[in-house]
Amino acid sequence: MKLDTIAVLGGGPGGLYAARLLKRSHPGAEVTVYEQGVPDKTFGFGVGLASRTQRNLRLADEESLDSIVAAAHGHEMSMRVGDSEVRLAHGELLAIGRATLLAVLQKHAEAAGVELRFGERRAVAELDADLVVAADGISSATRTELAGEFGPETAEGEGLYLWCGTDFALPRAIFTPVVTKHGTFVAHAYPYAADRSTFLIETDEKTWRRAGFDVSTHETPNGENDQPSLDYLQEAFAETLQGNRLIGNRTKWLRFRTIRCRHWHTRNVVLLGDAAHTAHYSIGSGTKLAMEDAIALDRAVLAAGTLDDALAAYEAERRPAVEHLQDIAERSMAWWDSFPDRLSMPVEQLMVAYMTRAGKVTVDRFAESAPQVAVPGLAAFGGVEAGEVPSPAAVTEWILDRPLASGGHQFPCRTAPEALRAAAGTLPVEISVRPWSPEAAELITGLPPAAAYWLTGPGDREATLDRLDVGERIRRATGALLVADVPAEFRAVAAGALASERVDLVAFTG
Ligand SMILES: Cc1cc2nc3c(=O)[nH]c(=O)nc-3n(C[C@H](O)[C@H](O)[C@H](O)COP(=O)(O)OP(=O)(O)OC[C@H]3O[C@@H](n4cnc5c(N)ncnc54)[C@H](O)[C@@H]3O)c2cc1C
Repeated sequence: MKLDTIAVLGGGPGGLYAARLLKRSHPGAEVTVYEQGVPDKTFGFGVGLASRTQRNLRLADEESLDSIVAAAHGHEMSMRVGDSEVRLAHGELLAIGRATLLAVLQKHAEAAGVELRFGERRAVAELDADLVVAADGISSATRTELAGEFGPETAEGEGLYLWCGTDFALPRAIFTPVVTKHGTFVAHAYPYAADRSTFLIETDEKTWRRAGFDVSTHETPNGENDQPSLDYLQEAFAETLQGNRLIGNRTKWLRFRTIRCRHWHTRNVVLLGDAAHTAHYSIGSGTKLAMEDAIALDRAVLAAGTLDDALAAYEAERRPAVEHLQDIAERSMAWWDSFPDRLSMPVEQLMVAYMTRAGKVTVDRFAESAPQVAVPGLAAFGGVEAGEVPSPAAVTEWILDRPLASGGHQFPCRTAPEALRAAAGTLPVEISVRPWSPEAAELITGLPPAAAYWLTGPGDREATLDRLDVGERIRRATGALLVADVPAEFRAVAAGALASERVDLVAFTG
């Protein structure tokens, strides 16, 4: 297919990367990026790039990836609760300042022959090009203007977050809560340069209001920093900050918006990156998704005979991967929203819960990759010495075999006896709601009291994960015994949920 003109709306990571790849594949085409901002003079904050993303970027364009890696900062992970800290060695986690990443991508786009036009805000209707790539970010005006064609939906998270930074490099990435007189704040912080770290702080709505941040948010004009919040958090996180300051960059409390669109393309216009979809920052993949979209778009345009076929092929390839990550991200967001409820767990067990929170990592795999954390975590769950926790291959069955004493009853293992299903005091509850939905909250508050809740529902993977997540919410809200039906094929998922105290017992089905 011959393209003479390609217009890219938005010079974020998705737009710049798409422009470079498309220009290399269509050297005769005029490729222009329109970016409303000017090249960033501020330092910005960092974004993370996981190892698999780096592999995909290397396959697509080794040269730009080399520049990204050279400008990025490697780090390991840790979690600290009170005085207890656990560390996870992780060879390939990278973070890079957003401004640095953009500068690298701008350089490579220009080197390929792309024209970059800064300070030019454009509407899609003003662009006359064979292909228009709308990479205009989470607030995409293109998506709004063509809402009838794209069918966008937005879901807001329950919690609030604030994205800021500090001017020193933390020794490693850290997740850490701080409990103040107003409630719990959790920091996700990581170094991204020799003298910079990202600090992402989140809290629940009640704490936010108690601390007066509803007022400071309201009073902070757009484009400015919510300084009262930054001052408060700087003091609250003084230990992690090691006496350094928290710096804002148009920093205000926000709720995360998950964007989904029924269609990603119409005529010659295609959505890419945050304009088409977002995934909660706690799985660190917004930049990855935008850049991987660019790779898929470039390949589809190169392979197809017509633009229609190319854009359909792009969407067909990317949609399943994006939706899968959005599911994981939504589960992760709900896990972080409810993080303060788990603070009574020893930090190693909390790390087991964290790693298995989205059903992506099984407990045996985690035990294999990080025994120094998983073994004490599982020992805390089982109430045994670390030496009694078996090898990773035997961990799933070992968890399922742990006895449980609850409500005056002794259970020899974590598989529920069938008689319990029909026992007086056990309430069967069919779960057909997403765990983070208002319907789930309604279901939980409307539950009649019972000694045990036995959760049933469909047998597919997502429904099973939903059931276990709703189970945790009911368990924490009621203190009752929680049993969940789990298809036999998901034994490892069931073990992860038990070890993380999402449910007390499971019943295998099928
Ligand atoms: C708190 C937080 C933390 C995050 N952490 C991470 C992380 O650790 N790892 C990660 O991978 N991702 C992270 N992300 C997500 C990441 O920032 C985005 O997913 C990513 O930047 C998306 O890239 P994009 O190119 O699609 O859009 P953007 O980066 O938003 O770029 C869109 C660009 O379009 C421009 N624009 C918009 N409208 C117009 C117009 N009409 N005309 C001209 N220009 C226009 C904007 O100025 C902007 O430069 C985080 C996001 C948040 C909110």
